Amino acid sequence: MQRQTVPGVAREPAVAQAPELPYRELFLALAEELPDAIFTKDLQGRYTFINSAGARFIGLPAEKILGRKDSALMGPEEARNTQEFDRQTLLAGRILRAEMSEWMAGVRREWLSTKGVLRRPDGQVMGLFGISRDLSDHRRSEAARNQSEALFRTATQSSFDAFFILRSEPEGLRLLHVNPHAEALLGCEARAAEGRLLSEFPHAAFIAPLPLCQEVWRTGKPHDEELKQVLPGHGHRWFRRQLNAVGECMSVMVRDITEHRENELRLRLNERMAAVGMLAAGVAHEINNPLAFVLSNLHYIEKELHRLKLVQSDMGEMMEAITDAREGAERMRGIVQSLRALARGDAVTTQPLDLHEVLDNSVQLAWGRLRSRGHLVRDYSDLPLVLGNSVQLSQVFVNLLVNAAQAMPDSGGGEIRVVTRQHSASMVRVEVHDTGCGIPAENLERIFEPFFTTKPVGEGTGLGLSISHDLVRGLGGELSVSSTPGVGTTFRVLLPVASEAVDEAPTQEEVH
Ligand code: ADP
Repeated sequence: MQRQTVPGVAREPAVAQAPELPYRELFLALAEELPDAIFTKDLQGRYTFINSAGARFIGLPAEKILGRKDSALMGPEEARNTQEFDRQTLLAGRILRAEMSEWMAGVRREWLSTKGVLRRPDGQVMGLFGISRDLSDHRRSEAARNQSEALFRTATQSSFDAFFILRSEPEGLRLLHVNPHAEALLGCEARAAEGRLLSEFPHAAFIAPLPLCQEVWRTGKPHDEELKQVLPGHGHRWFRRQLNAVGECMSVMVRDITEHRENELRLRLNERMAAVGMLAAGVAHEINNPLAFVLSNLHYIEKELHRLKLVQSDMGEMMEAITDAREGAERMRGIVQSLRALARGDAVTTQPLDLHEVLDNSVQLAWGRLRSRGHLVRDYSDLPLVLGNSVQLSQVFVNLLVNAAQAMPDSGGGEIRVVTRQHSASMVRVEVHDTGCGIPAENLERIFEPFFTTKPVGEGTGLGLSISHDLVRGLGGELSVSSTPGVGTTFRVLLPVASEAVDEAPTQEEVH
């Protein structure tokens, strides 16, 4: 038996002055209906009354219990404990309560037992009464609740998502539960965060804005969305946020999906590039042959005109027309070569490249966007071959050139200068300068972040510079920026010269 006595207070029952009430019948009816065991015993410990619930607990019919003592009805230990409790109650002369755990009729039961003395109308003690409440179900459901709470905690502790439980209070949303990933989002340990208001963590308020919670509480419909958010020290991140109302509480799950989103977009971009590449290869192939005829025929016409020895004035105009036509056709050939370069080769192999050729191809590709915004200056110096991938580098330079063009005023008049220099023994440098709007300091540190864009929806993806940065890094180079708002911007690309890699390649003698 585990017993703990709880001091009880003997209260005078509030009885109405209605002596005609049939108390005996009332007591018996009530005792039969109650789920608790109710019994009385005389001073020798013999049962003088027991209700059906009590008889059921002991495991015998009431008539077999009446007139008998506990020692004849239950195990020796249980009987001893019960008799001891009876003795204490009679000694105390007042109500005592105890919680007990004992075997009864083959079942382990948890009891809340209340006992008090029974007196005759003249005050003389004639025995005792008892009420025993079976707490087993209550204990079981308490244990089940504790277990499910422990399971819930373990599940949320090991979750890869941030998980919060909030409760609506007049002062705002109070944090009731915070798992480890949620701690990271709040920037505060669960112990310190639980019990505080969400509004005390302004940078994390996005997880559950009050109007959104109110909407979820009002409609009862779970909320699920993806959103972009700036986190201090982490820049732009993408999150999936799920809110579910549970009574006056709100369960909030927040998953960081930035990487997934970036991969998805990259994949889509790669697919688009592959499709463009195939299209480019097809177009280039189709145009190449007729273009070759045009060029060779123009060359033939030019030669024939010289041979015909026409009047100088007629000759001049015709030669000018032919020169224009040849220039146009040459440009077309350049474009076809750029398209072929874009379509050629897989994106990971590197080889020694003439950087100026790659730059000229990129200019050709971006020319449509550059032409109207200003003039282009190529300031090239002698360079060794660089080690790179022409498709990837074209992608980088086209992106830098188009960004530069977009930074220029619509009216034109700006200048884009492409400068190439030997940077060190092992690196070359390409700079793309523009005289555009420049980049404010607060944006400058974020422009290489994926999705950072200041351009309108549909025009900017915010991925160009982030991808370019990765590509240049992947080639062993560096991409950096400097800018003065209102004056212009310079992007600088450092790339490794090919000789180093060539040096590392096996020599002829080593190849068998
Ligand atoms: P997008 O061009 O799709 O916006 P990028 O990653 O290429 O994505 O560029 C990110 C942002 O950097 C642009 O939205 C713009 O604000 C800024 N930016 C890039 N290049 C320049 C430039 N040459 N001049 C001014 N701002 C620039």
